[in-house]
Formats: sequence, C-alpha cells, structure tokens
Amino acid sequence: MGKPGGFLEFRRQDPGYRPVQERLQDYGAVELPPPMPLAREQAQRCMDCGIPFCHGHGCPLCNIIPEVNDLASRGRWRQALDLLLATNNFPEFTGRICPALCEAACVLGINDEPVTIRQIELAVIEHAFDKGWMRPRTPPRRLPFRMAVIGSGPAGLAVADTLNQAGCRVTVYDGDLRPGGILRYGIPDFKLEKWIIDRRIDLMREEGVEFEMQAAIGEDLSARFLQTRFQAICLAGGARQPRNIAVPGRGLDGIHFALDFLIQQNLRFAGDPIPEGPELHASGKNVIVIGGGDTGSDCLGTALRQGAASVTQLEIMPEPPAQRDPTTPWPLWPHMLRESSSHKEGGRRLWSVQTVGFSGKQGRLQMLHCVRTSGRPPELQTVPGSEFDLPADMVLLAMGFTGPIRNKLAEELHLAHDTRGNLLTDADCMTNAPGVFAAGDAALGASLVVRAIDNGRRCAAGILRRLESEKA
Ligand SMILES: Cc1cc2nc3c(=O)[nH]c(=O)nc-3n(C[C@H](O)[C@H](O)[C@H](O)COP(=O)(O)OP(=O)(O)OC[C@H]3O[C@@H](n4cnc5c(N)ncnc54)[C@H](O)[C@@H]3O)c2cc1C
Ligand code: SF4
Repeated sequence: MGKPGGFLEFRRQDPGYRPVQERLQDYGAVELPPPMPLAREQAQRCMDCGIPFCHGHGCPLCNIIPEVNDLASRGRWRQALDLLLATNNFPEFTGRICPALCEAACVLGINDEPVTIRQIELAVIEHAFDKGWMRPRTPPRRLPFRMAVIGSGPAGLAVADTLNQAGCRVTVYDGDLRPGGILRYGIPDFKLEKWIIDRRIDLMREEGVEFEMQAAIGEDLSARFLQTRFQAICLAGGARQPRNIAVPGRGLDGIHFALDFLIQQNLRFAGDPIPEGPELHASGKNVIVIGGGDTGSDCLGTALRQGAASVTQLEIMPEPPAQRDPTTPWPLWPHMLRESSSHKEGGRRLWSVQTVGFSGKQGRLQMLHCVRTSGRPPELQTVPGSEFDLPADMVLLAMGFTGPIRNKLAEELHLAHDTRGNLLTDADCMTNAPGVFAAGDAALGASLVVRAIDNGRRCAAGILRRLESEKA
C-alpha cells in the first residue's frame, strides 16, 4: 500500500469534464485527462485489500489493480505499465470508456467513494505513450501458424495482438474502411477520439499484424478461401442486429436505427464517404431516442451537437433510484440512476413510457404516440388513459441488439447458434466448425469493450491450445 490511511487523507477527486457550453461546439473528448500528480495521490487511497474485490469480482480482465495502484502511488509508472499490460491489451480504450465494474466492486465503496481505478489506469498508459515506452514489441520467435481474424473491433484486436505476441502470423480482415469496429464507428469522438485507435493500430502493424480492410468475409472473400490459407479463423464480427419495434407507422420516413445515425456522424467527422441512402442529421429536428442505454445517450449527445431543436430519450422501465438499490448490494453492479456526460448537456429523459405507434403525412414522420407504463417486466403494464403524443421529425431506435447479423459466412460454415442467437462456442472458444473460433459480442451477445477484450484473450489462448495439441 503506497500510503497507509491514504483513504482517510484524500477525498476521491476526478479530473472532471470540459464545460458543457464549450464541448457542445465540437466533437473533442469531453472528459479531461488525469494529471499525473492527481493520479498518484488518488492511487494512495487504495487500501491494498486482503481480498481485492476490484480485481477478483469487478474487473473482467482480472487487472491486478491493488499492485498497479501501489506502484502508481509510488510514482513507479514503468512497473505499473508492465503489470497493466500483463492483463489488458488496450488500457487506453478501457481507461476512457469502461463503465469501471472494478470501481462498483471496490471495498472502499462500501462506506466511501471508490478509488478512481479507471483514471489511474488511463494515467499509467498515457504516461507510457508520452514517455515513448510504448514501442513495438516484436515477438522473439515466430511459430509456424497463420491466423485470420474477421473483425477489427476490440475483440478481434485482442485476439490478433495476443496471437501475434505469441509468435503467430496474423491477418485481420474487416469490411469497414478503417479498423476499430464500434470503437470507431459506434462510439462518438466525444467519448473516444479516433487517433487513439490509429495510434494502437500503427503499433500493431509495426509489430507484424496485417490489416486487410474493406474485405467483407462471406461477400468479398469466402470462408473456404481463408480455410485454405490459415490454420485457424476467429470470427469477431460483433452483434449488430438491432432490435426493431413492430408498431403502426414503423415504415415512415424519419425512423432509423441508432447505430446507422452514429456511424454516419463518425464517418462525417473523419471526412470519410457516407454510404448511399438518406443522410441522417438531426439539425433543426425534434429528435426522439427510444432506449435509455449507452447507445441512446450517445445519440443524445450527437443530436445536440448537430443542432437538434429538441431531444427526448424514452425508456420503458421506471426511473431507477438515485442511490444503489438494496436489491443490488455491494459488490454487485448497482441498479441506480446513471447520468452520462451527454445527459448533462441537455435534452430530457422520460421514464416508464412505451411507444405504441408513429404517424405522419405523405410518408414522413410527424408524431410519436406513447403510453405510460407501470411496473417492470414481466409485470410491466400500460396505464389506461395515459396515452400522449410527442412531435417527432426523427426517431432513433436504440433498444439494444439481438445478436450477430446472419450472413453468408454463417451459412457457408453451417455455424450453430445458442438460444440467444449468438455463435455457439466450446471451452476453447471454438464453434462447431473445426478450426473456426469466435470471440467478443459475436459469441457473448452485445456487451462491453472490456468483456470483448477479455473474451478475445481467452479465444487466443484457446486457439493456441488447440493448435499445440494438434501438433503434438
Ligand atoms: C453506440 C455504442 C456505444 C457503446 N459504448 C460503450 C462504452 O462506452 N463502453 C463499453 O465498454 N462498451 C460500449 N459499447 C459496447 C462495445 O462497443 C461492444 O461491446 C464492443 O465493441 C464489441 O466488440 P467486438 O469486437 O466484439 O465487435 P465490434 O466492435 O462490433 O466489431 C466487429 C467488427 O467486425 C466487422 N465485421 C463484421 N462482420 C464481418 C465480415 N463478415 N467480414 C469482415 N468484417 C466483419 C465489423 O465491420 C466490425 O468492425 C457500445 C456499443 C454501442 C453500439
Ligand atoms: S477494492 Fe478498492 S481499495 Fe481494495 S484493493 Fe481494490 S481498488 Fe484498492
């Protein structure tokens, strides 16, 4: 422990955010970077618990948090970096956009505010980049294995990085123009600036990973083609099949899936061509976002920056309590009201509201019809006589994802799916097709970046186990 009793001396202090009026004028990161002296001081709040719930219960990657905090609290940044990289391939992503499950499980959180674990992680990795410590690590020896990874989101990148470091030759294929998956094309720049992804991809390229972009597997290249060239294939194509809404008026012009809207803005901001079809822009429009989660709040922040006349976010569930609900005691992930940085920028949130239809004129959306609800599933009920309408020029459907998009690739390989529609895998992350593995959202269902990285690491380990056992 860097400073016994440090938690008594220092209060939790976050670096904070840029002022709302300033940040609404641009797409730059809203959260301020952690100054090194602050990160060091905050690391001294860590109690080096005998049973560190942050590590064992909270963090899916099992980051060795107490030891990283201890080293950070002593200013031993280089050693803290080595320890962090031992379990997390990309702390510069999780340090920015992870919901920090570790902090929800931090023992200090029982009767005080938890340690700023995510910010300390970010300080460690950014200090390393600043100091030039993040140099290409070329594997000392190459194994006789060639691997193909389909998908360059956090899961695919974690598989590729781990296999490459183990000595395999890895090629990552992706249908998009640039690598990153949802990190690049879903999550807005104001949460994750894209130079951070480019910096990592440059490093991986220098370390020997090859990227073949605009190569949609199943369309541009067949799985069979890959199977003849690679010893193993990992499918990390994500889970992007959006949940739809089946109510009258769904076909009206002006109703879009949230991810399509977010992808367009990310392409526009990068100066990349926007796919053919209607341009999705919120300027001057009354925007309704259906869905109260992260994707919905990203739509809210994007629509505000685009100059929407109004933005309303609807959630079918009741408003959660302001404090941790007793049904989710520590160290569980707390059921409680969450306010993202976008919620602090404007718009309004309506709870316990169900959309029952849309209407408009000449095929164009004008109104959203809804009704109040009471209770929560499976006892969710509509409240009789509580119907009301909201003027709407644009509706964004952000109600989650139902699994991987079924495409020719899945057909060609006769892939089995689990009951939730995700790719079925065994303990080594292998699908029912021999030599074909799956990682990330494609296997887990839509989840989090930290879980995608963790699953990517497990998948890489599974691939190596299989190949080594076949060689023996
Ligand atoms: C709007 C939004 C905001 C989010 N915000 C957060 C957040 O703040 N924090 C957090 O932890 N999580 C967040 N998430 C969840 C997180 O982004 C995902 O869980 C994570 O990106 C999943 O990683 P993945 O690599 O499995 O898939 P993806 O990131 O979806 O990447 C899949 C890649 O595979 C490619 N691909 C698919 N099929 C093929 C094919 N046939 N051929 C070639 N390439 C193919 C795609 O082009 C894509 O690049 C968010 C999700 C969304 C939608
Ligand atoms: S649970 Fe919190 S206080 Fe305890 S070791 Fe982890 S970060 Fe430190």
